[in-house]
Amino acid sequence: ALSNHTSSGSQGPWAPEKWYSLYTRTRLGYLFYKRQLKKARERYPHGHSYTQAIVFSGVKVVPVPVLSDNYSYLIIDTASNLAVAVDPSDPIAVQTYLEREGATLEAILCTHKHWDHSGGNKALKRQYKSCRVYGSSTDDIPELTHPLKDREQVTVGRLQFQAFFTPGHTVGHMIYLLDGKSGDGPDCLFSGDLLFLAGCGRMFEGSPKTMLESLDTVASLSDSALLWPGHEYAADNLTFAAVVEPDNTVRDRKFQWVLQHRLEKKCTCPSTLGEEKEYNPFLRTHCPDLHLALDLQPGPNEEWGHFRARILEEVRRRKDLFKGR
Ligand SMILES: [Zn+2]
Repeated sequence: ALSNHTSSGSQGPWAPEKWYSLYTRTRLGYLFYKRQLKKARERYPHGHSYTQAIVFSGVKVVPVPVLSDNYSYLIIDTASNLAVAVDPSDPIAVQTYLEREGATLEAILCTHKHWDHSGGNKALKRQYKSCRVYGSSTDDIPELTHPLKDREQVTVGRLQFQAFFTPGHTVGHMIYLLDGKSGDGPDCLFSGDLLFLAGCGRMFEGSPKTMLESLDTVASLSDSALLWPGHEYAADNLTFAAVVEPDNTVRDRKFQWVLQHRLEKKCTCPSTLGEEKEYNPFLRTHCPDLHLALDLQPGPNEEWGHFRARILEEVRRRKDLFKGR
């Protein structure tokens, strides 16, 4: 939702930087979020997309469609019915899902401060008094009780998470990896606005170098990890990916699959990190095909990391200008 208002490129009072500053630093941003919440509840009384829970031994992952294209997630330890919520921005929707599952909210893992990710913390904390709220202390997370450092562990029941500090979209953005081994299943990455299916978040508060380091952290995780992002942006992202890397058959196939799913308003998550590396241009800054398509080559003495950050900057710049978001 935020990106719709920052992509216009217009000058004047609603220029992107000014809008962003109002959204994140003033009460106007909160009021805007409350209005979006109300509009989305009216427009999508049952959520913007059809989602499906996945279950593997002892763990249930439930995507919760909220606002107009966000996803919150419930991760439930099925033995104890203790639940963790990732970015529960619509407290009523999350509460409904918790009741449906008969689960008790034990912890909130917040990826970043933007209201469409953190806006439900306060109401849920009021409802579940002992609920812990995790996130980075550098990111103004509402109701934060447990500030996390890079690679710190979070345990809830038999659920084991590892937090990774991934700044760039915001100064204190974090992502959370659920360890599948505890339940004999796949690892699950909750990536917030760092990484989407075929896309990445806007670099509101970080340089391309910082964002690249954060994306490299993702790339270092297991290829079999399931990706559960913060937004349903797959169709737009793959449309853009086709522009910067026209000859990619893996991407073509995924695009057809996504279009079919979106015709039926089905959720396109999860993909896997292995898949993403094949078609997500933001994870492919090392690929010669992409360099050619962008018409960029490394300078004679240019360090490889510096060059890749330049590629990332250019892909992000083109995506910002791309119609849609
Ligand atoms: Zn955000």
